[in-house]
Amino acid sequence: MKNNNPLKLKIMEIPDWPKPGINFKDISPLLGDKKSFSAMINEFAKLHSGQKIDKIVGIDARGFLLAAALAYKLKTGLVLIRKKGKLPPKTISEEYALEYGSNTIEMHEDSILPGEKILVIDDVLATGGTMKASVNMVKKLKGKIIGIDFLIELEYLKGKKALKGYKINSLVKYG
Ligand code: AMP
Repeated sequence: MKNNNPLKLKIMEIPDWPKPGINFKDISPLLGDKKSFSAMINEFAKLHSGQKIDKIVGIDARGFLLAAALAYKLKTGLVLIRKKGKLPPKTISEEYALEYGSNTIEMHEDSILPGEKILVIDDVLATGGTMKASVNMVKKLKGKIIGIDFLIELEYLKGKKALKGYKINSLVKYG
């Protein structure tokens, strides 16, 4: 990815936030700029032109922003994967390991029908743990994952290794 990628220019890097060693990618300036926001959604949409997608699954919380806009653009349904305790029953859940401790995410057990074509989207691919747990839940519901999209891929964390076998797109890469 070229350094003059207009989307990348709108992403702010915050070193050592929220804790030392994390280089946080803040997409607020991109979302706040009308040209960049629509260019981003149009780029995602172009990747999927002509594809049949029933539902887009967005991951709590910044993934929702991308998923909702893209679902509207592509005229698909929208499904939310949320952090534990936010969705009323009935839900399925998946726990995954973090550097310290673990995290649990949930989705409604009837949010995907067997065989539905699913695109999963999040803002950042880091270690891939969050996305791996998300695709595991979609698979439990027998959704057919046609692709996984990210705005940002942190290539140096090699998160793609956790997602072998899937078609992965990312618009902005940090090597
Ligand atoms: P991971 O499970 O390690 O791939 O982390 C992905 C999730 O954590 C995404 O939902 C991101 O929103 C968030 N995340 C991880 N690393 C960063 C980062 N450097 N900047 C912003 N968000 C991040």
